[in-house]
Amino acid sequence: MSTVLQLSHFIDNAWVPAASGEQFEVYDPSTEQVIALAARGTAPDVDKAVEAARRAFPAWRDAKPRDRAALLFALANALRERAADFAHWEALNSGKPLARARREILGTARYFEFYAGAADKFYGDSIPLGGDYVDFTLREPLGVTAHIVPWNFPLNMIGRSVAPALAMGNTAVVKPAEQTPITALKLAELALELGFPAGVYNVVTGYGEEAGAPLSRHADIDGITFTGSVEVGRLIMKAAAEHIHSVVLELGGKSPIIVFEDADPAHAAAETAKAIYSNSGQVCSAGSRLLVHERLKDDVLEALVARSQTLRVGPALEDPDLGPLISREQFERVQGYVETGQQEGARVILGGTRPPERARGLFFSPTILDNVRPEMRVAQEEIFGPVLSVITFQDESEALKIANGVHYGLVAGVITNDLGRALRMARGLHAGQVFINEYFAGGEETPFGGYKQSGFGREKGWEALYNYTQVKNIAIRIR
Ligand code: NAP
Ligand code: MG
Repeated sequence: MSTVLQLSHFIDNAWVPAASGEQFEVYDPSTEQVIALAARGTAPDVDKAVEAARRAFPAWRDAKPRDRAALLFALANALRERAADFAHWEALNSGKPLARARREILGTARYFEFYAGAADKFYGDSIPLGGDYVDFTLREPLGVTAHIVPWNFPLNMIGRSVAPALAMGNTAVVKPAEQTPITALKLAELALELGFPAGVYNVVTGYGEEAGAPLSRHADIDGITFTGSVEVGRLIMKAAAEHIHSVVLELGGKSPIIVFEDADPAHAAAETAKAIYSNSGQVCSAGSRLLVHERLKDDVLEALVARSQTLRVGPALEDPDLGPLISREQFERVQGYVETGQQEGARVILGGTRPPERARGLFFSPTILDNVRPEMRVAQEEIFGPVLSVITFQDESEALKIANGVHYGLVAGVITNDLGRALRMARGLHAGQVFINEYFAGGEETPFGGYKQSGFGREKGWEALYNYTQVKNIAIRIR
């Protein structure tokens, strides 16, 4: 990349520089080169964006749902047409492999399509109160919704929460992660081109403390959707408490993939590899703990190591199996966890640092930690890298106890051909989604969200519509 992009906020259908006049650097994690300079947003920029979203709200709310839907369908189609361009920028800016970036852009289009389809179909109820009354409910939008998103699925997560919000008649202010602002702004270009009214979709770029915090504390937002770390999730909840805003939190996990003794080791290994290495393990729902029956452990690990050794780690645009980690900070964090694991008594049986052929950069090898015990930090804390912790169990009840023995509860995988066992596990697991015999099974249609410290509220599917509406009951005495 020779030219460095100049990025502005997108507020009220206009490109606006930071009130402070300052910019911050945006990198390509595959090369650690600066690829863009973005507007460094602070409270005055956030105020402007929230004001624009507020002004836009009444007309957007009162528009015919099918007219809102038409714009959202158009956005979905435009995203599909330009998937290659969007995928290029997403891969360049986030380090994710090009083919994966493309799938995520198509997934984003699918969110806009799915929720466009819901815009004119999310009905209220009519409630029988006897002959003296007519009673019904209205599903009304919240108003101005704030969306604070992380860097691991930059545009896809915007689609996931902004599409249902807009479909239901809310307006939106988005604060992308500091690492990955580009595609949020490219989406703004599309919205502008397609004729979205001013103020419906706004983007303020910047740092969490400087732009995210004033957005989360803003008195004139009505709801906030946050995806990221537990620590920042706590701050978001505290900020929302001040003005009693509604909150959706999606805070990551330490999800188990549980392999029973009747499983096919090759299938279990393939599902485990997908669960932990996708997006270089930088996935909130990554399967980062392999819980394997002690009798099957050697077979599964043998197949998993063999498979892991075939994976290519490299620059995003070369479409490897694993791209780089997002930042030096994240690289050091992941490396630090491998060392912590070793100090705790785990054994590194694969990887553990950069691949030998990549002496520099943010590349991290597929890594397997064996002999992990459930109480170790590497079995309890989110690492957010391609690092798998392997734990054995002897029976179903022990598997369930270990699986549930963490503060998180986002998803869980179960590999078994025993239907009764699969369903007993599914019932017992503390997790918002359970995948049986295929990790990450489901899609834009299936509700997603956490138990325990993984958060609350459900995104994706029909369920998400409840986050972005409130019910008003209207009771009428007719005689
Ligand atoms: P993070 O700090 O929680 O960032 C998520 C988003 O919140 C970003 O847009 C961030 O802006 C913003 N933010 C940060 N501080 C804020 C504040 N005080 N008020 C309002 N918004 C704020 O996560 P991270 O630093 O990128 O990653 C740290 C760890 O979080 C990871 O190692 C991983 O364990 C976890 N994580 C989880 C997910 C998930 O999908 N659940 C995603 C990413 C990270 P900045 O980008 O400027 O910080
Ligand atoms: Mg942060």
